[in-house]
Amino acid sequence: MSDSDDLKPATRLVTGGRRAEWTGIPGQANRVVNPAVWRASTHLYPDAAAMAEGPKTNEDGKLFYGRRGAPTQWALAEALTALEPGAHGTILYPSGVAAINGALMAVLRPGDRVLITDNAYDPTRKMGLGLLKDFGIETRFFDPLDIEAYRALVAEGAKAVFLEAPGSLSFEVCDLPALVGIAKEIGAWTILDNTWSGPTGLAALAMGIDCTVNALTKHVGGHSDLMMGAATGTERMYRRLRMRSQQMGIVVSPDDAALALRGLRTLDVRLKRESESALAVAQWLTRRKEVAAVLCPMLPGAPGHDLWQRDFSGGCGLFAFVLKTTDRDARAQFVDALALFGLGYSWGGFESLAIPIDPPADRSVSSWPPVGVDPEATLGIRLSIGLEDAGDLIADLAQAFDRMGAAA
Ligand SMILES: *Cc1c(COP(=O)(O)O)cnc(C)c1O
Repeated sequence: MSDSDDLKPATRLVTGGRRAEWTGIPGQANRVVNPAVWRASTHLYPDAAAMAEGPKTNEDGKLFYGRRGAPTQWALAEALTALEPGAHGTILYPSGVAAINGALMAVLRPGDRVLITDNAYDPTRKMGLGLLKDFGIETRFFDPLDIEAYRALVAEGAKAVFLEAPGSLSFEVCDLPALVGIAKEIGAWTILDNTWSGPTGLAALAMGIDCTVNALTKHVGGHSDLMMGAATGTERMYRRLRMRSQQMGIVVSPDDAALALRGLRTLDVRLKRESESALAVAQWLTRRKEVAAVLCPMLPGAPGHDLWQRDFSGGCGLFAFVLKTTDRDARAQFVDALALFGLGYSWGGFESLAIPIDPPADRSVSSWPPVGVDPEATLGIRLSIGLEDAGDLIADLAQAFDRMGAAA
């Protein structure tokens, strides 16, 4: 086999985590393709001496007790690590939110301050204002597009900076290398919620980021039937992630890990297909008279497109658009008229979803709608484009606009 460092992400998605010792029967030459599902709380030791040694070596890849996982979870973690140039290891969590928490708790102590991007996923904000506050950690929010204000805030001191790019509701793309460089000047840890593009769409650790968080619930699961999260870090970060997750008793089920591994194998084709469809839908939306702005970083001319093109190697089917109407009933009418788009939280599944979004309620220092969009136009809709035919999705959106027009 070739050196795995030379392999492209699409190949690593296929080869990752399939070590011979996890896919074979000891003593037999034949193997199966997928690591088996090892359901195990108790791991048995050959003798008393081995049992006495067990707790002394807290090493990855050693059977000890169920909470430290078994080959199914290790295979998933290893496959995710292999996707991130510069990564040392990955910790799995029962949800994306748990992974965000795991990463923050790995580096923060009482008395510390954390800077969180103002366009962060809402539970991340709430974590800063709730759980972290309760543990004596101060949170300050920053506008990810205002580098000078951010620089001034960083100069006041911070233990960690939490980023998300693009924002998963408003889709601003920040200048990641610039923000990370400024954080590094004061030695702050940098954590990025990289769920939107995932490790195959952004080489975040290679950019100097210490830790990426990925809600595997979204694209890695890919089939709307799984909750899981991951945090992948440099060696220094990984040691902390691992210690905290062990202290907090974090473990994921082997059945879920096997589902996530199954999703991972087809991630590249799904992302490519839905990105292509999303771009077609986004382009079509720019020509609709009902639409004030399309917030899709992959779309030439859209906010953040230039930075996306500079820093990212891939995208996904999640984006938003802003309606010209300020009539909330008209928006509800539009969403209710959709037949192929489900109305539900989450994204990254094989099926398309739509939700009304109102970011202003979530913001403290940045603006909604984004700069350049008519400030009167505030009613947003977020689409998660799935694997349906793009023409069918466009026809569905067209009939929903017609219904909205009829009602107005
Ligand atoms: C959904 C989501 C999460 C959290 O994932 P869960 O598995 O639902 O906890 C984190 N970040 C972003 C950007 C998300 O969209």
